[in-house]
Amino acid sequence: MKLQGCSVLEHKAITQILGKRLNWLWFPKKLEKDYQSQYCREAAHEFRYRGLIIFFLYLILIYGIYQLLPAEQIHTWLPLYSMVGVIVLLATVVCWFGKLHRWFDYVIGIGSTLVIAISVIAAAITTGEQANILLHAAIIYAVIIVYGFVGLRFYTAMAAGWIGGLIGLAVSFYLSADITWTVLNRTYTFGGLLGMALAYAIDRQQRNNYLQSCLLELHRLEMISHNEQLEILSRQDALTGISNRRHLDEMLKDEWFRAMRHQTPLTIMMIDIDCFKAYNDTLGHIKGDKCLIEVADTIKKIAARSGELVARYGGEEFLMLLPMTTQKQAAKQAERLLKAVSNLKIEHPNSEVSAYVTLSIGVATYIPQLNEQVSDFLSFADQALYKAKSAGRNCYYMVDLQSESLSQSLAS
Ligand code: GH3
Ligand code: MG
Ligand code: MG
Repeated sequence: MKLQGCSVLEHKAITQILGKRLNWLWFPKKLEKDYQSQYCREAAHEFRYRGLIIFFLYLILIYGIYQLLPAEQIHTWLPLYSMVGVIVLLATVVCWFGKLHRWFDYVIGIGSTLVIAISVIAAAITTGEQANILLHAAIIYAVIIVYGFVGLRFYTAMAAGWIGGLIGLAVSFYLSADITWTVLNRTYTFGGLLGMALAYAIDRQQRNNYLQSCLLELHRLEMISHNEQLEILSRQDALTGISNRRHLDEMLKDEWFRAMRHQTPLTIMMIDIDCFKAYNDTLGHIKGDKCLIEVADTIKKIAARSGELVARYGGEEFLMLLPMTTQKQAAKQAERLLKAVSNLKIEHPNSEVSAYVTLSIGVATYIPQLNEQVSDFLSFADQALYKAKSAGRNCYYMVDLQSESLSQSLAS
């Protein structure tokens, strides 16, 4: 069941209502609306079966009264009291239609009012001592069932109980029936007071349950969002916000096997900032961190196609993963990256290569074959990076793996 209540109120507000304002059996406007719609759905659902139980009790009662009632009164009493059965059955049928559930309070409220009115009239218009006892028992049944069993909220049940009684009395007066006030006081009035206490306790408990389930739902939603955050954090590098080594390892493995299945070229680039120790030593670690962030953002912009990934591989080393990328395309990307970083113009007063921060890149492109290891592939990118460094830095070196298998290349 979807609880709107948790999107309406915060944790604290719900706890406050639970602590103090539950006694009034009324929530703040929006919450009350949600509570009522949820409650109506549940109560109507429940009434589909309770209605049948009430009808069964009614049949027992009507049989008992029928046997005790003087024969000459049956023809007036029976048609009137049969209406109670019809009302109960109609209300039960209505509750089987999902679309009518939101009218539960009205349908069952009006039905209950009529049932109580009919019970009072039926008792008033009939005479005969034994039958009268049962007829008054029928009033108590009706009152207690309306307050405590049909599932009305406290205020609706109270309205049905008292308005029904007043209508019953008014009609009885109109028919000049002989009302035995002392008995009616002990059945209808006391039954009503007892029923009110019952309805109040039930309504309060239900509201309490509703708020508790809102709190549980809030906890559940918070847990989901915390888990999502944790999941993201566990894949992210804290400084640069790009993927970390852990995420890279997973993705690299996936892409390696995907490329093996489809026999498509996979490219990796091992990227290293040149003379970064000197950068830190001259400008300090804080500036060094800023430089790492800027370089990471730039690399990320170059590998922006879906499926491409940039990760922080180590201190000032990054790895770019480019699925379905040929050597030619990889060379272009490497050139674009070198240019993009040089365009950043991050001053590097102590670099052996340039006045600005530069990169060295080792590129490896390969179509993986069965029984080959992704770790070997990584070693080639590392070797290529080493060669780019030896070639004077601020350049890329591309290892040629097209003609031979990884193991042959490793051996050579
Ligand atoms: P090369 O051109 O050969 O790559 O030389 P290099 O100085 O860049 O390489 P080296 O491996 O000697 O030094 C890497 C430096 O990166 C050392 C370390 O202080 C710095 N570094 C690693 N991680 C971080 C970091 O998170 N923040 C900062 N500011 N510096 C870092
Ligand atoms: Mg370096
Ligand atoms: Mg390094």
